[in-house]
Amino acid sequence: MPNNMTAKTVAKKSSATKAPIAKSSSKKKEDGVPLSVVIRRRIQAKKARFHANDNISAFLEPGDIEGLVDEVAEKMQGVLESLVIDTQSDHNTKNTSRRVAKMYVQEVFSGRYQEQPALTKFPNVSHLNELMIIGPITVRSACSHHLCPIMGRVWIGVLPSKNSALIGLSKYSRLTEWVMCRPQIQEEAVVELADMLEKKIKPVGVAVVMDADHFCMQWRGVKDRDSKMINSVMRGAFLRDSNLRREFLALIERK
Ligand SMILES: [Zn+2]
Repeated sequence: MPNNMTAKTVAKKSSATKAPIAKSSSKKKEDGVPLSVVIRRRIQAKKARFHANDNISAFLEPGDIEGLVDEVAEKMQGVLESLVIDTQSDHNTKNTSRRVAKMYVQEVFSGRYQEQPALTKFPNVSHLNELMIIGPITVRSACSHHLCPIMGRVWIGVLPSKNSALIGLSKYSRLTEWVMCRPQIQEEAVVELADMLEKKIKPVGVAVVMDADHFCMQWRGVKDRDSKMINSVMRGAFLRDSNLRREFLALIERK
């Protein structure tokens, strides 16, 4: 019975190799090369950029995200060891490396690894061309200098043209989240968000305002608890028309 035999051989093997190999075998390495290096090579072959605030989903294959979690967990364990934290006896830190790896790859930096959320666009049938304001959208990000949290709010102003595509309201939040869930600096984040909205909806004007608490100012550094950063990007009609700009700013101030 060949089936039986296979089962036996497998059983034997697994009992013989007690060792800690099992967990993260398959996707992690290709010929001993770390997965992150494999992905980096794919990106470099296309001469693409992979800064902290870039999305690299186009270079990932199925299973890579899980593989990256494994690799980051392994390296994070090294960081804890270098911090001289006894992750064996201290039960609080036993699985910290894996928790942090999952948090980075699958949550707080997921905007680097996940594809752009799908957008349903609606034709502007009633030819709306009035100012639309979306917000405040809650934003969670992290600074790329310290990987400290940035917690804030974003307002988006759109002046559609009669021919602009419209996207559902919830999609503004999704897109914002996708851009913000990456390590970055706020000045670049708002620009990227404005660029993307311009490309997607081709409005007459778009405005983005973000105000946020930067934990690298509060948790470390100057430890200034009240410092906030406010950035705005004005495009198209918002740049040319000071009345429109004022109307937008006055309306968001009231929210
Ligand atoms: Zn920082």
